[in-house]
Amino acid sequence: MARIENNRVLTLNRVWQPIATVPLRKAMNMVFRGRARVVEAETFQLFTWDQWLADKAVPVDAHVIERDYLRTASLFVRKPEVVTLSRFAGYPNRGVPYSRRGIYDRDDGRCQYCNGHVRGKDMTIDHIVPQSRGGVTSWLNCVLACGACNHRKADNLPTEVGMKLVREPYQPTREQLFLQGIDVMKSWAPFIQA
Ligand SMILES: [Zn+2]
Repeated sequence: MARIENNRVLTLNRVWQPIATVPLRKAMNMVFRGRARVVEAETFQLFTWDQWLADKAVPVDAHVIERDYLRTASLFVRKPEVVTLSRFAGYPNRGVPYSRRGIYDRDDGRCQYCNGHVRGKDMTIDHIVPQSRGGVTSWLNCVLACGACNHRKADNLPTEVGMKLVREPYQPTREQLFLQGIDVMKSWAPFIQA
């Protein structure tokens, strides 16, 4: 059985726009089932699973950089780093709908007032212009806050209680959200803007 590390694989839609990162195991499964093909980083050549195995597997006694390979009983198989879906051509140009999870990702798990790390289960959403004063729930009016800062700010504007945002909130792109906190691989560079 192959030992699979916690790598992520950049997933492109059918027209090579980045739409997600997925765990290596999932990416390999999609390729194996013919739902995606591997994009070789250096050449942009496409591979089915059988083609990948034929071209990118070597015997386990070969000298390879082990972190770039999966080890099976008899083979080292090069880890795919980018895959492209065979059919799906959706979503890059659509705006990302507001979500709590998205706020957490956009703000990188940090309170936007004290810059402290906030665990997911402790997160609160601060409305910069409080809802009680007409503030809406949106990307631009909401930030991640720790409980203490949210409590201190209460129904005030930040300036009224001497608080300042770490940075201005913004409408994130899908790519900014799915790459947040991910170790971006060199081979992804041609496909992403970040
Ligand atoms: Zn805080």
